[in-house]
Amino acid sequence: MADDRLELLRAALADAEVDALLVGPSADLRYLVGYHALPLERLTMLVVPVSGPAALVVPELEAPRAVDSGAGRHVDIVTFTETDDPFALVAAHLAATADGGDDGGGDDGRVGPHGRLAVNDRLWASFLLSLQARLPDRDWVAGSEVMRALRLRKSAAEIDALREVGAAIDRVHEQVPSLLRAGRTEAEVGRDIAELILEEHDEVNFVIVASGPNGASPHHETGDRTLAAGDAVVVDIGGTRNGYCSDMTRNYVVGHAPEGYDELHRVLEEAQRLAVEAVRPGVTAASIDRVARDHLDAHGYGDYFVHRTGHGIGVEEHEEPWIVAGNELLLESGMAFSVEPGIYVPDHYGARIEDIVVVTDDGVENLNRRPHGIIVAG
Ligand code: ZN
Ligand code: ZN
Ligand code: ZN
Repeated sequence: MADDRLELLRAALADAEVDALLVGPSADLRYLVGYHALPLERLTMLVVPVSGPAALVVPELEAPRAVDSGAGRHVDIVTFTETDDPFALVAAHLAATADGGDDGGGDDGRVGPHGRLAVNDRLWASFLLSLQARLPDRDWVAGSEVMRALRLRKSAAEIDALREVGAAIDRVHEQVPSLLRAGRTEAEVGRDIAELILEEHDEVNFVIVASGPNGASPHHETGDRTLAAGDAVVVDIGGTRNGYCSDMTRNYVVGHAPEGYDELHRVLEEAQRLAVEAVRPGVTAASIDRVARDHLDAHGYGDYFVHRTGHGIGVEEHEEPWIVAGNELLLESGMAFSVEPGIYVPDHYGARIEDIVVVTDDGVENLNRRPHGIIVAG
């Protein structure tokens, strides 16, 4: 699988006229060679030249982890000691694989055919500055320019992984009602939910428990507010399982719904359903946002929908495609993203319904299956 990915990457590098992609610890690194590197002050860097072998430069003390990851099946692992200069190793690997051609210079100064290098978007600035000092004659471009095409459309194996993690978070939400009771704090509920996520995932990515007026803040920090009867509670949770992320939101009420909430929620359910039904190959990402927003506008809730309709998901919980006004990207089979319109009424409550969907050859597949209606707990 990863070998295919390196080959696809090399083709993308050739198309973009970039000599190599340099990748530090990141989702891109996991995606390309399966190594979950720690973000350390010591350099870890995958070097993928447009032609020639790829190398993974790692500190000697991290080498066992790199080997255990299986990355060595795809690339040469090159280690350095505490007194070596890892940036020199990166430069040497680039020079050794540079397609000398007309502009091949001396030892360390050899430049590839295009003189352009890409670095992954999340590389620390300190590493990029050191690379730029060591390789002064190159132009630098964002790694997403070559990685975008690979990561946007998921393979069958990736979609399977997203299906599995989607079912896993469904099972967590199924257990949430038993945790929500008047008198418990958001934080207590959040800790219990985190444990349940871990039973179904390898990692907890985030837990949002936003009760009462806190629900009006889309990224509320789960805190010490105590739940009370008549609270609406927005529960937005996600984790990582086998390298792929889940992300799912449902709205619960403690005992009974607050005034006006049933009506608001009914409109939100319609908006979310209409947006999902609009998903198919060949329509723009922006058009999906538009469907949800138009519906909320028509019912007078437009001003309360303060964020984009969705985001892509895969090895990262937020990635392309962005489901947002202005994004004219045409949806294609294999793209996976959230559809998560929300209504946020300041000082009162909020609601958001979020499922992950994947574009199929002729429509859409929903990866979360729990019902969308208000869930009564406590
Ligand atoms: Zn978010
Ligand atoms: Zn979410
Ligand atoms: Zn989301």
